[in-house]
Amino acid sequence: MPRIGVLSLQGDFARHGAMLEGLGVTPVRVTLPGDLEGLDALIVPGGESTTMTRLLAATGLRAPLDRFVRERPVLGTCAGVILLGTRADRLPEPPLGVLDVAVERNAYGRQLDSFLGDVEVAPLGRKFPGVFIRAPRILEVGPRVEVIARYRSSSGRDEVVGVRSGRVVGLCFHPELTRDSGLHAWFLSVVAGLSVPWDGRLPSGSAIATEAQ
Ligand code: GLN
Repeated sequence: MPRIGVLSLQGDFARHGAMLEGLGVTPVRVTLPGDLEGLDALIVPGGESTTMTRLLAATGLRAPLDRFVRERPVLGTCAGVILLGTRADRLPEPPLGVLDVAVERNAYGRQLDSFLGDVEVAPLGRKFPGVFIRAPRILEVGPRVEVIARYRSSSGRDEVVGVRSGRVVGLCFHPELTRDSGLHAWFLSVVAGLSVPWDGRLPSGSAIATEAQ
């Protein structure tokens, strides 16, 4: 059985854990350096990237996490993509720098400007319900970074909202707040190459979880 960690210092790590359990995988909560040992992959959840950055320093997790994200598969969602990127505005410490993207934090405005929208996810070959909560915007994408998800905003702007660079995936939205486990399943099976107890069918129910509304 694969061991999938969820960075659990702050933010919505519990919902990622529930999503993993739905796929038959037991999540491992990561709060201390030793928790990273023996993990097959890691999820860096949404939350507040400035707080997470400070907590990484305070818990001694920063150095082992720096190593882990350079060696193993990682999925970052929302604040997670900010932490994985190479450049972000107004962070107290530099981000981890494993995803060659420049990110603008809180680019769509404040909490009240959070929104739902259909995202086109190339590796799934279909739309995915995007939950954007004080979401970051990906401003620049490096040459070796593949765009995997796009969103056309109400103003007609075509936004990059999902990227992949080898084993590292970053999403500007929150797939864990939906009932659609397709992106988690794709990350575990295709990106991380793990054999998860998942039958390969993409879930059709793409409803947003009621708690997220
Ligand atoms: N605005 C948050 C930040 O900058 C990210 C929001 C989220 O993860 N939903 O860290």
